[in-house]
Order: sequence, then structure tokens, then C-alpha cells
Amino acid sequence: MKNEQFEKDIEVVPAIFNSLTIVEANGEKFLKGELPIVDANRKVWAKYQIEIKGSDRYPYSFPKLFETADAFKHNADWHVYENDFSCCVDYPANAKIICKNGLHVSDYIKNYAIPYFANQTFRIREGYYRYGEYSHGVFGKIEYYQSKLKAKNPAELLEMFRFILLDYNPPRTAACPFCHNVKFRHCHRDVFRELQFAKDYLFQDRAHLIAFFHAFPDYKLI
Ligand SMILES: [Zn+2]
Repeated sequence: MKNEQFEKDIEVVPAIFNSLTIVEANGEKFLKGELPIVDANRKVWAKYQIEIKGSDRYPYSFPKLFETADAFKHNADWHVYENDFSCCVDYPANAKIICKNGLHVSDYIKNYAIPYFANQTFRIREGYYRYGEYSHGVFGKIEYYQSKLKAKNPAELLEMFRFILLDYNPPRTAACPFCHNVKFRHCHRDVFRELQFAKDYLFQDRAHLIAFFHAFPDYKLI
């Protein structure tokens, strides 16, 4: 997708990642080339053919990353979106939080695209993801939110969503509504603030979780 800020930001990228070049097609400039995965001893483990294109909300969302040589399967199991075959580099709500102050494409490549391909390389060689991964679908959503919110049960998790969506922001000395005898600012305040940057995802995910917990009333959170 054509994005003026993206087209401006990519100008510095070939000087930093010299196997990437700027190309133009269909009136849109983007990055194309090879991304080597190199370890601390300069050993090259793999080389990926990639394209990085603008997204509609860049720099407040990740750009679109594509692997173009079929080095791995382009499906959800391999963390590739099946609607446009772009790489699923992080959980969408988390990607939005990461980009809340704007993320330059060169930082995206260094901090997100290269680790993504390093994980893919490990899985191609060893058969599994080294650093674990979130599950897919609703279980992935529950794991993701639970890793941040640490609710005691599904009802409490949904109640936390409601507080976040309402921009809950009590006085400094207020006790946490979810933790006994703990000041809110010492436990859930920071994660609530963080997730407030991704309220659109929370809103959608909350509906998904309500439907799931309704269908599986005995489901226990870990
Ligand atoms: Zn708390």
C-alpha cells in the first residue's frame, strides 16, 4: 500500500542493509532484496528473499513483510497471514503497542524482521520454534492477554478488558480492583495503560473471548 512516510523512510535503508534496494512497481516504492541471518560470529545461517512494503498506518503499524522465495510454507502454522501472505511478525495488539510512538522501518528490520527470520531458520533446521510461540486463534489471544494481565479466572479477564476499554485511571493512591491490598499503580496500572493503545484490538478480541468462554464455561486460565 502506498504510504508517503514509508517511501521517505526507506531512503536510508540500503545504506544500513546493503543487500536491500528500493524498487518501484504499480506507483509504489518499496524495499526488495536479500536478508541474511548472521550470528555474533558472522556465520551466515540463511538468506531470505524479501520485500517490505508500506502499510496504511505506517509508522504507527508495522510495514508489510513478504518472503518471496517460498523458503517456508505461507500459512498460519508458519506465522504467515493467509489473507495477503505477509509475515505475522508479532501478535497484532502487541505490534500496535510497539508502534505507538511510530517505528522507523530500519528499526523494524533490525528488531522485528531479522528476529522473525532467525526464528524461522531455527524451525526449518530443528523443527520447532526456539523461543516458543503463541498458539493460534482464540488460545493465542488468551495466552497473550493472560501473560500481561494475569487474571484469576475468565470473568476477571473480561472485567479487566472492560476497565481498559473505559480508560480506567483512578487516583494515585487507589487500591487495585483486582488485587487485594495492592495499590493499582504497583500492579496493573502500567499494563492497562499499555493495552489502552490497542483498544481496537481489545474490543474485537473481547467479543471473541466472550463467545469462547460462553461455549466453554469450565475453561480455566493458566
Ligand atoms: Zn492489580
